[in-house]
Amino acid sequence: MALDALDRLAPKALSMPCTCSAEPTTWKHQNVYVARPIGERIRWENHTLWTYECSDCEGRSTIFWVAFRSKVNDTLLRAATRGGPIDATKGGTIENVIQWPRWTVLVPKRVEKAFRDKIVLLQHGIHCLKDGYGIGAAAYLRRLVEDEARAIVELVRDAAVQDGDAEAARNAEEALEQDSAAQRLEIAAKRVPASLLVDGRNPLEVLYGNLSGPLHSETEAEAVAVAVAVATMLIGTLMFLFENLKQRVDEKKTFADTMRSASQRLADAKRHDKVSKQ
Ligand SMILES: [Zn+2]
Repeated sequence: MALDALDRLAPKALSMPCTCSAEPTTWKHQNVYVARPIGERIRWENHTLWTYECSDCEGRSTIFWVAFRSKVNDTLLRAATRGGPIDATKGGTIENVIQWPRWTVLVPKRVEKAFRDKIVLLQHGIHCLKDGYGIGAAAYLRRLVEDEARAIVELVRDAAVQDGDAEAARNAEEALEQDSAAQRLEIAAKRVPASLLVDGRNPLEVLYGNLSGPLHSETEAEAVAVAVAVATMLIGTLMFLFENLKQRVDEKKTFADTMRSASQRLADAKRHDKVSKQ
């Protein structure tokens, strides 16, 4: 296969998530742009862009930058780029360098709604962690926890009220009066409803404990290990709070609202009935 024919390797269709559907949709291969080898020194690299479009909405497309590196030598490469019968993939590699728009983390709808425009911090954090940039991930997540400290403490207060834990609710109110995010979390962590403890762990203590502290340790490897641990704990705790706990709090609220309005309607009906009988 000649280099200019490498694009025949592009899959005809892919299954990927699209914002138009809750389930992954089928993305059809559209077209290919071939870039000339970059620079003199890496001339046996070929770069192409593969474009795919979602067949459900026919509105969104994703471009993959694919790099081919073949071990064919310069002379063979020249022949190949002229369409010569060279199997350029033999002994070479094919790599998906990046895709645009970037692969997005599928965050549960409830979490997305809770964080609004700040959701990008969570997505960047997850991306960085996945790409091996632990320090970057920890930085994004710490900022998210700081920015959302109020929402976090409010959620814990709502859970305390629902659980009938007056002391935890009072403690959360006191925390909400504080000026800084760190102070809010520090105070709120002192007393959370028992239903929030997971394996004896207090999620707010995890957030507060990982909010500060150096990420640059003695050695690079140590720093990365610390940052990865911090990022992993922050993601896990935020997901627990804004997916699991938030769902529980929301469902209880919905139940309470339904009961309240149904009782009201019943009371109104009885009153009306009484009046009409008089
Ligand atoms: Zn779509």
